[in-house]
Amino acid sequence: MARSLSGLVKELVSEGYVRSKRVEEAMLKIDRALFLPEDAKPYAYADTPLGIGSGQTISAPHMVAIMAELLDPPKGGKCLEVGAGSGYNAAIIAEMMGPEGKVVSVERHAALAAMAERSIAAAGYGERVKVVAGDGSLGYPGGAPYDRAIVTCASPALPEPIGEQLKEGGWALVPVGGRMWQTLYKFEKRKGNIVPTAHGGCVFVPLLGEHGFRE
Ligand code: SAM
Repeated sequence: MARSLSGLVKELVSEGYVRSKRVEEAMLKIDRALFLPEDAKPYAYADTPLGIGSGQTISAPHMVAIMAELLDPPKGGKCLEVGAGSGYNAAIIAEMMGPEGKVVSVERHAALAAMAERSIAAAGYGERVKVVAGDGSLGYPGGAPYDRAIVTCASPALPEPIGEQLKEGGWALVPVGGRMWQTLYKFEKRKGNIVPTAHGGCVFVPLLGEHGFRE
């Protein structure tokens, strides 16, 4: 297990999960420990998911890296995240988009949304990230249209409202499959059509909501 943030990022680079300078720099700049409850902080630099309360997890760093590389959020862009969890992923995306970028991150657990908002502010990204408590399977029409969308929970399909809220030429990353395991899909909006490509297997907690799984 890596004992430092720089050790963890070095490991992710050598394993090929971190491929670009911009993902490497964002992951080096944002300390994962800031987004963890006290009892999980000693494991902040281990490449593993960790419990964050309300029965939910912060994703493993290699999965954050895989998604950040595929998301490739533009400088000054607008991104929707579904599943704020700890707020870590939202901060990474905000850092990649620069000071003019905006992230809206929706979380169904109000307690987690409040915690994510606090951690994001403590990390210095409060102005760039808006955390909303609610059902992210509906997207967030108030911030649309988005250059990018990222769903950090498992969905039976691309939730229709999220496809509708994407800009032309933009894309959404969604783990699609059953409740146990999924395939990470990139859904690109081209001339109004949604074009899917598959990017490997993954395991996420379910998206519970109107356009996700039933509770
Ligand atoms: N991105 C997070 C991070 O950086 O810590 C990790 C996300 S965690 C793997 C998945 C999150 O999706 C959980 O916090 C869960 O409560 C949330 N979730 C599940 N269904 C949701 C929905 N319909 N709307 C918003 N969030 C949802």
